[in-house]
Amino acid sequence: MRFDEFNFLPGIMEGIEASGYENATPVQEQVIPPIMQGRDIIASAQTGTGKTAAFLLPVMNRLLNNHKDGQVGALVVVPTRELAIQIAQHIEGLSYFTHLSSIAIYGGNDAQNFVAEKKALQMGADLIVCTPGRMISHINMGYVNMKGLQFLVLDEADRMLDMGFQEDIQKIIQTLSPDRQSLLFSATMPEKIRQLARKILKDPVEVNIAIAKPPEKIVQKAFVVYEPQKLPLMQYLLKQHPYKNALVFCSRKQTVKQLTRDLKRSGFNIAEIHSDLEQAERESVLSAFSSGRIPLLVATDILSRGIDIDTIDLVINFDVPGDGEDYVHRIGRTARAESTGVAITLIGEKEQNKFSQIERLLEKEVTKAELPAVLGPGPSYHPRSYVARNAGHGGGGRKGFRGGGGGGRHRR
Ligand code: AMP
Repeated sequence: MRFDEFNFLPGIMEGIEASGYENATPVQEQVIPPIMQGRDIIASAQTGTGKTAAFLLPVMNRLLNNHKDGQVGALVVVPTRELAIQIAQHIEGLSYFTHLSSIAIYGGNDAQNFVAEKKALQMGADLIVCTPGRMISHINMGYVNMKGLQFLVLDEADRMLDMGFQEDIQKIIQTLSPDRQSLLFSATMPEKIRQLARKILKDPVEVNIAIAKPPEKIVQKAFVVYEPQKLPLMQYLLKQHPYKNALVFCSRKQTVKQLTRDLKRSGFNIAEIHSDLEQAERESVLSAFSSGRIPLLVATDILSRGIDIDTIDLVINFDVPGDGEDYVHRIGRTARAESTGVAITLIGEKEQNKFSQIERLLEKEVTKAELPAVLGPGPSYHPRSYVARNAGHGGGGRKGFRGGGGGGRHRR
């Protein structure tokens, strides 16, 4: 479907053209018309599907038609600062040819920002993107004015609940006009999301795009290794594998720090990102990475969602992520837009069961590559659930992936 079929206002069309979009993606095709008709939406769609523009475009179109001075038009609530910043940039791009105003409200930045945020919340802005914690800080100060709010968007709602933001979200919603239109986006649809949806959505249109599966164009492979083989294998892969931007994931920040130190010592131009870094440091690391100045970045799962850098052509999981969703989100950082990418996972001895559960979720066996001869032989791949399934013991392993493998939701 072409964008001119949606009847967007000229300023919005110009933003779409300048962004280089020609045809609507499936999620855009399905959610834009009902949003324009005023319906609430519950959509399962992951990052990479074009979901951000799917809600931004119709919301911005309405706000242009129905701009109200001194009021907040749309509030987009998201789980992380990184996603807030990214959506704010998306808004800037798409609204460039309009007079719409917007601001991102997230924790960890300086007092000057707080003043600008306060002003927007008191005096109005067309679009506000916020993280729950920071929004609550403002609400607690008593000046937030959301009376005229036309749209509430909850993006990555499952992630927000996983991160413990349920109460914050409810508190935010209590401050909003009941007359608003509400749009909920989530990569997965567990029961707790449905419960939240029943509380906040009115007769929603349900759209299902999520196939919790990575795009086919990502080449996935894995190495089965003993733990001490991981570092030499990393060094080997980074030397042998050409890349523009490579992103390495570790589940724990201690591992990120150690691995970064080790690889730096071997001469790699490398940076690290995790929750110990201040916001300004994170932003400068990300900008050095996206500009190519530092081509190699080691990160915790804090980056596994939302970050949208088109030049990432290699993702390496130094360890197996906590669950299938994290895996999909980690490897989804590569092969963005039109490009292709490779995703390599190092499976330690104790991680085999976890990885086989991920394979089950993907309904795909990931190719196990042979270790380079210099590293000697690795262990064979014998995950418990996998063996059980092949031996005909009724499938083996758990059905759900959440809670499996101990992928904690603490600050990473
Ligand atoms: P998202 O799923 O919102 O994270 O979007 C993923 C990427 O797709 C972003 O880089 C968007 O700018 C891009 N994108 C969104 N909609 C379209 C479209 N209709 N055509 C081409 N690219 C798009």
